[in-house]
Amino acid sequence: MTSAPASVPSVFSLPNELLIAIAAAGQEGRVPNFQAAFKSERTLSQVSQHFRNVIVGAPALWSLVEADLDVEGSMEIANIYLERSRKCCIWVSLKHFFADVDLNLIAVRLGQITVHIHRIWRLKIVLGSHSWNLVTPAFLGFSPRSPPPHWSTPLTHLEFRRSSYSDDLDVDDLFVALTVQCTSLVYLYLDLAHMPLHQHRLRIPSLKSLHLSVSKDEDTRHLLDVMDLFDTPAVTNLTLSDTHGDQIFELFNATSLPHASFLAVTTLTFVTNSCTCEKGTLDPFTQTIPSLPLRLFPALSSLSLINQCFTSLLVDAISGATSQPSRLLRTVTLCPDRDLEDVHLALRHAKQRGQIFPRLRLSSKLASRVQDWEATDATVEMFDPTELLDFLK
Ligand SMILES: [Zn+2]
Repeated sequence: MTSAPASVPSVFSLPNELLIAIAAAGQEGRVPNFQAAFKSERTLSQVSQHFRNVIVGAPALWSLVEADLDVEGSMEIANIYLERSRKCCIWVSLKHFFADVDLNLIAVRLGQITVHIHRIWRLKIVLGSHSWNLVTPAFLGFSPRSPPPHWSTPLTHLEFRRSSYSDDLDVDDLFVALTVQCTSLVYLYLDLAHMPLHQHRLRIPSLKSLHLSVSKDEDTRHLLDVMDLFDTPAVTNLTLSDTHGDQIFELFNATSLPHASFLAVTTLTFVTNSCTCEKGTLDPFTQTIPSLPLRLFPALSSLSLINQCFTSLLVDAISGATSQPSRLLRTVTLCPDRDLEDVHLALRHAKQRGQIFPRLRLSSKLASRVQDWEATDATVEMFDPTELLDFLK
């Protein structure tokens, strides 16, 4: 092996600060994926003893902690990150899917993570429905029947998800009971397939972005009932997933909620993987759109319907087919996974009525059908919903 000429700096002579910066650059945009993919801090720390000393000596590089609780090796790696991150604030992602793993073991592993709760700024937990009830009391040391301890934590981003649908009602109660304690959140993803039995009101004045996953199998009021749990006046970005068309119509029709208000929402997104419901079941609702739809959101400027059933009827509703058109909407994003021709027709009819949304973002399949819109004042852009849909997985 030949050594590098003296005039050429060797990678091994890089200043420590530059080495740390390279590792940090490798972390940019990283999304937890629970896979043993390339991770800059781990790879660089294995190059040489000097690299190891520098990278291990930079606690911030070890602040992205992820653990598959079903896998012993994954927990061992997570514990290394917890140790090396020292007192740094950490972003923690946890998952547990398999019902046949000993839940006591899962609870012990969760406990190893949650002793660090005081320095977790971002937390995502995905658990199978079967395990939330058994694991969560051990996780946080409380049950729904006893008062929860306050989390003394810098937590600003929280995601509670279940990995599968279940009829287990208590899970929704646990999600809400845990979230109630997190009063400094700016981002919240909550999976509420059922209406919680104990209806705590979620007062989070700091919350800016709220993503609620509901259930399209529940009745038409379900979406509104879930939204009414929230006292979150600063939310500007509201995303609702796993919704069905009749629930959206109920939302478009609503003029107020008993407790909640969403006066600051500017961006409203409906995104669902798909819906196999029968066309026609919504017909009664199309007769009942009020003269001013979307009254709940007086500041709304952007509406997105991604893979949403009855997109064409919803376009009718906001474009004045049965009511006054919404004049506030500046951007409308439509990515229907079916009934493309119906949506195309709804847009054409809206245009004929003189209702033109200043900016239309359309899926490529839909955009190819409305090329004649290019000649109007509307800006038509292509929109790829892949990233939004991946987020639901
Ligand atoms: Zn549907």
